[in-house]
Amino acid sequence: MSEKGWKELEIGGRITEAGNAAKYKTGDWRTFLPDVDREKCINCLQCYLYCPDMAIEAKADGTLGKIDLDYCKGCGICSNICPVKCIEMKKEEK
Ligand code: SF4
Ligand code: SF4
Repeated sequence: MSEKGWKELEIGGRITEAGNAAKYKTGDWRTFLPDVDREKCINCLQCYLYCPDMAIEAKADGTLGKIDLDYCKGCGICSNICPVKCIEMKKEEK
């Protein structure tokens, strides 16, 4: 996919096509990334429910799956919401 210049973007950044968020890899501009301590995780899935980018997977068996770093923007909401504080936000090494 070629990058669009600002003159080609929709005015106001409107969404004109349903589901087009999949084309925008928000992980590109991340500074921090979540690091989950799976030993401490109680699989409550609060992080899955609150992640604004749906970057956290819930497995069919109701346990925590992987975090899709293509879409995780490093906002830290998952870390803040985790009741057992097992998600640490770490500075990303590029
Ligand atoms: S840091 Fe933000 S975007 Fe990334 S997984 Fe956590 S809640 Fe989702
Ligand atoms: S919020 Fe914390 S304890 Fe709950 S599933 Fe996510 S990482 Fe595990």
